[in-house]
Amino acid sequence: MKYLFGPVPSRRYGRSLGVDLAVPKTCTLSCRFCQLGPTPHTTVTRTETPDIDAVWTELREWLAQGNTADYITESGSGEPTLHLRFGDLLRRVRNETNCRSLLLSNGSLFFLPEVRRDALVADVVKVSLHAWDQASFETVNRPHPSLRFQAIIDGYRAFREAFTGRLDVEVFLIPGANDRDDQATKIAALVASFAPDSVTLNTAVRPPADSSIIPCPPERLEALLPLFGPHAHIGGKEPQNVRIKFTQEALIGLVERHPVSLSSLATTFEKTEDEFRALLQPLIAHGDIRLFPAVGRLFVGGATKPQGG
Ligand code: SF4
Repeated sequence: MKYLFGPVPSRRYGRSLGVDLAVPKTCTLSCRFCQLGPTPHTTVTRTETPDIDAVWTELREWLAQGNTADYITESGSGEPTLHLRFGDLLRRVRNETNCRSLLLSNGSLFFLPEVRRDALVADVVKVSLHAWDQASFETVNRPHPSLRFQAIIDGYRAFREAFTGRLDVEVFLIPGANDRDDQATKIAALVASFAPDSVTLNTAVRPPADSSIIPCPPERLEALLPLFGPHAHIGGKEPQNVRIKFTQEALIGLVERHPVSLSSLATTFEKTEDEFRALLQPLIAHGDIRLFPAVGRLFVGGATKPQGG
């Protein structure tokens, strides 16, 4: 599959079939914590690449083979709203499939009315907020120089007023960058100002672009959680409730864009870690996947290290 990946097991979204509208990595930001590596050239130029009809054809064929997913998710190797027709694909999912649609966006283009209008079509929209002002936005997210933090927040508020679906927000906490009490309090106040349906606190559980980043300790996340209100929870835990039958194709599809921890994959495929390692060996020997350590754990990733661009 060229544009589809997964289905990826997700704790919140069940079996989520990824649709990649930004391959190779194309993004407005170059977040320090990005698991896809640094973005070589951030951009805000929206394009029609890849061809949305080709993406739809691949998706329709996948469904016609009897496959199914809980969500069809626009995500992948970068920012999906950089695609001028991401809304067209959401409409087709809504009108022509039995699946729900999920837009995973960094939210940086939500200051554009046309992006907000197209995002309204999704059943669920998940955006990000890891900063409290322009300076912290630049430190954590390393955005394209034209992006203005306040305009994005204003866009979130305007979107919330119009959107009747579920709006989730992710807050990624980095020790020493945005996890002090006063910093998290300011982020939480901004989050409250656009009233998402849920807030997920995350930290580095996968290999980050900036290798100096360390995970926020669980007790620190627990301590900050009440700041974000009753609908906040801690993410980053491995999905325990989604199982997938092991095939080499399913495994490669899962890890080719986002590295996944060995222990999580073994659980997903209902294997012991030893059984799962044995299954990995021929794929590693053939150069289809690689096994590597990061943030204190072993990860399975695609054949080549993500470099972005
Ligand atoms: S984490 Fe998401 S928004 Fe940030 S650089 Fe990576 S792909 Fe872009």
